[in-house]
Amino acid sequence: MNRISWDQYFMAQSHLLALRSTCTRLTVGATVVRDKRIIAGGYNGSIAGDTHCSEDGCYVVDNHCIRTIHAEMNALLQCAKFGVPTSGAEIYVTHFPCLQCCKSIIQSGIKAVYYAQDYKNHPYAIELFAKASVKVEKVELNEMVLDLNQREKNDFVGSLLEELKANGVNDDKLRSLHDQAAKIFTTFE
Ligand SMILES: [Zn+2]
Ligand SMILES: [Zn+2]
Repeated sequence: MNRISWDQYFMAQSHLLALRSTCTRLTVGATVVRDKRIIAGGYNGSIAGDTHCSEDGCYVVDNHCIRTIHAEMNALLQCAKFGVPTSGAEIYVTHFPCLQCCKSIIQSGIKAVYYAQDYKNHPYAIELFAKASVKVEKVELNEMVLDLNQREKNDFVGSLLEELKANGVNDDKLRSLHDQAAKIFTTFE
C-alpha cells in the first residue's frame, strides 16, 4: 500500500483550496501546517461580503487586482481570527509568494515555505527569506495522488497494450506506447 507523503498531502490540500479562488487572474491556495497538522487554509479571494472577481470582473489598478486578499494572507489571518499561533509553523502554497506575502509569512514566524510553482519569484523576497532563515523549497504536486482510479486506469492501459501486442503491432511502437504509459502512471510496469 502506497501512502502519500506529508508534503504531497499538504500540497494537494493547497491545490484544492486554489479551486475555491474567486479571482480569475490567478488561483492560489495556501495551507498552514504545524506538527504535521493543518491549522489553517486560504485562497485568493475578496473580503467577506464583497463582490467576487469571478462575477463582477477584477478591480485592476496598475495591472494588479486590488479586490483580493492573497491565499497566504487569508490563511494567516484565519489564524489571527481564531487565535492560533503561527510561530514555528510551515506553509504550503501553490505559487511562490509575492513580496507582501513573503513579509507577512516571515513576520508571523513561519519557518518553512513549500511552493509548487515558480511565480515571478521576487529577488528581494528570496533575500528576505534567506535572511530570516526561512526554509524555502519547491515541492511539485504529483497529480496522481489525487487520482482515485489510478490502479484501474493503469490496468486498463496495460491490457490495451497486451491486446496491441497480440495483434502484431511492432515492437518499436509498443515500446514507445509503454514509455508514454510509464510517464503517466507512476506504478506502471
Ligand atoms: Zn481579481
Ligand atoms: Zn501574495
